[in-house]
Amino acid sequence: MPLNRLMDDEQLMMEVLKQIYDGVYMVDLDRKILFWNSGAERITGYTAEEVTGRRCSDNILIHVNEKGINLCTNGCPLHKTLEDGLNREMEVFLHHREGFRVPVMIRVSPIKDQEGNIIGAVEVFSDNSRLYITRRKLRQAEKEADLDPLTEIFNRRYTEKALSLKLEEMEQLELKPLGLLFIDIDHFKRVNDTYSHETGDRVLKMVAETLRNILRREDILCRWGGEEFLVAIPSTSREELEEVGERIRVVVSSCSLHVPSGSLSVTLSIGGVLAKKGETLMTVVNRADRMMYLSKKRGRNLFTLEE
Ligand code: GH3
Ligand code: MG
Ligand code: MG
Repeated sequence: MPLNRLMDDEQLMMEVLKQIYDGVYMVDLDRKILFWNSGAERITGYTAEEVTGRRCSDNILIHVNEKGINLCTNGCPLHKTLEDGLNREMEVFLHHREGFRVPVMIRVSPIKDQEGNIIGAVEVFSDNSRLYITRRKLRQAEKEADLDPLTEIFNRRYTEKALSLKLEEMEQLELKPLGLLFIDIDHFKRVNDTYSHETGDRVLKMVAETLRNILRREDILCRWGGEEFLVAIPSTSREELEEVGERIRVVVSSCSLHVPSGSLSVTLSIGGVLAKKGETLMTVVNRADRMMYLSKKRGRNLFTLEE
């Protein structure tokens, strides 16, 4: 049968949509998910069975923007398109079934009936993390032995070497200062005790993966110890460090992991400092650690930047 005739077959068209590499899903006017293809399954980790019939704002995809603002409650592009019928394109982070954030490019279009009334919307989304993946592979190849096996980010040994070099470089080239963020998961022992050590490990991976997706190519991300991470931002300013630290705090607190009793989120206490000329790594790290400790003392889920 010629293709133009086959294209009248709605079932066949749905099959084609199902197989498209990008994520495709459709919602009705109540934003209830009616269709979910294999691309969407691959990118989000959710199967069609799990999401069909649920509303997309029901704790599933939880789109957030760069600033960590939840778009489901505040500026959902699907919702806007259902109202005004316009096409939209946006870069957002969505929520993977395993809790971490995936950067995606989304495109939203209205679905209209024959009279032109809006009856739903379709969202096509593609994985935007190619850049991050390439970067990760490159580093992995170079530094296989220097990665933390659980989270696959740099371990402390590598970071101590790399950051000492960065500090020397900053001094020699008279670069803008290196910013350091000391990050500690709040009440992590409770996660292990309440759920399990394995769940604790999943939380560590979720946090590491989210940090990796937020940071830029030149930033250095490290697992410093148990539930402690270090982020180094070369050639930065106080304003930029303030923005990154706060973004990390907000975005990680918006992540959640499925556990049998529901969903599990954690918060971070963060301390930030700018390295001074001639400082050794340990003195900078100690200062950042002290700022982190201040965040703990002031009530946790906070970012404290040294005055
Ligand atoms: P605070 O808010 O004061 O930081 O409390 P906390 O419970 O996070 O801090 P504490 O230092 O008391 O506990 C850290 C816990 O992290 C204890 C340790 O068992 C756990 N931990 C360290 N490494 C790992 C790991 O690789 N996997 C898991 N699941 N837990 C770990
Ligand atoms: Mg700790
Ligand atoms: Mg802790």
